[in-house]
Amino acid sequence: MTLHNHFHSFLDQVHREGRYRVFTDLERHAERPPHATWRSGGASRDVVVWCSNDYLGMGRHPAVIDAMVETARRMGAGAGGTRNISGDSHAVVALEAELADLHRKEAALAFSSGYVSNEAALGTIGWLLPNCLILSDEKNHASMIAGIRASGAEKRIFRHNDLGHLEALLQEAGQLRPKVIAFESLYSMDGDIAPIGQICDLAAKFGALTYLDEVHAVGLYGPRGAGIAERDGVMDRVAIIEGTLAKGFGVVGGYIAADAVICDAIRTAAPSFIFTTAMPPAVAAAARRSIAHLKRSVAERIAHRLQVEKTRRALSEAGIPMMSSQSHIIPVPIGDPGLCREASNLLLERFAIYVQPINYPTVPKGTERLRITPTPFHNDQLIDGLADALRKVWDRLGLPRETNVAPIPSLARLKPAA
Ligand SMILES: *Cc1c(COP(=O)(O)O)cnc(C)c1O
Repeated sequence: MTLHNHFHSFLDQVHREGRYRVFTDLERHAERPPHATWRSGGASRDVVVWCSNDYLGMGRHPAVIDAMVETARRMGAGAGGTRNISGDSHAVVALEAELADLHRKEAALAFSSGYVSNEAALGTIGWLLPNCLILSDEKNHASMIAGIRASGAEKRIFRHNDLGHLEALLQEAGQLRPKVIAFESLYSMDGDIAPIGQICDLAAKFGALTYLDEVHAVGLYGPRGAGIAERDGVMDRVAIIEGTLAKGFGVVGGYIAADAVICDAIRTAAPSFIFTTAMPPAVAAAARRSIAHLKRSVAERIAHRLQVEKTRRALSEAGIPMMSSQSHIIPVPIGDPGLCREASNLLLERFAIYVQPINYPTVPKGTERLRITPTPFHNDQLIDGLADALRKVWDRLGLPRETNVAPIPSLARLKPAA
């Protein structure tokens, strides 16, 4: 038996469980969002993407692309080294100032990705605080879990968004023990939102630090696009805010914003910050342009909300079930990995619509779903096309229809606070 057999048997097992991941070969069209070219078996075809996390289409915004191209021409394609060794690119320094201002914090720190920022920040915080206890929401993202594990700190998991359970765990830990509450503002698989203010109340009562992942909310919520904490008027009460430059902002990279001393400690201690090449200046400049644009402009947020609302209404009229979501994410439950993949395949092959199936381990077994994310560029005609295609797929696969449709959040509630 060669060592390769281990890899084969691992993959066979994943296939048997119906959770083998197939990546779809797409080329997004910057000038024709949300269209893309799909390549498969030597053929290519125009498709409409309905599952992008570039929620506002900022990745194709002309000003963002200009910033990237101009900066690459002036400063080159790469960073040339780590920030420690090869000089700290001014574009990255300026990006961090923009981020600190966005979240109204003393400082910010940029990382290669949101994943790395969570791993590095939670890894360092939990490692630095003596006898630290990290209280982690049960639905936290894999990158937060990786950071908590890397920190070596003790972890207790609280039931999702359950304030009573969180309070009981805080009480048990006592006032004196250093504690960190790690949670997300907007959980991207269900589309639900954390009670940030009340979690901050508990943190204040028991002397805990709050660590908030706003990855799916930055750019999208709040008067300046700083996220749900800004929308809810509690941004100043959150100790550490973590975000990505890759989703609402449409580029790539991750960050934290916090008190200067916390950022400085993470900058000094985190191996995944120190021992890796810095973000290219062109990426930093593009991200900064996107953030600066969304600070001033609410047009994208309003158009986004309108199209999300229209999509929900169209799906509801077509009898397509939707999990109740408090956000721009529309999860459509299927509850079986095979059917979920089949629905996704049918949509792509018959209707030229790309919606990725979401299966275990991204979501618990039995809760497999399609996750639909409209952007401002999904016009009314595309929305009708989606509803019609889903109706036909539901008929063909005999999937359950919605009998009592979940209430649709009103547009008024989704409107930006500004
Ligand atoms: C996507 C995601 C991340 C990671 O961000 P990247 O910039 O894509 O690495 C972190 N947290 C949550 C909740 C996410 O969904």
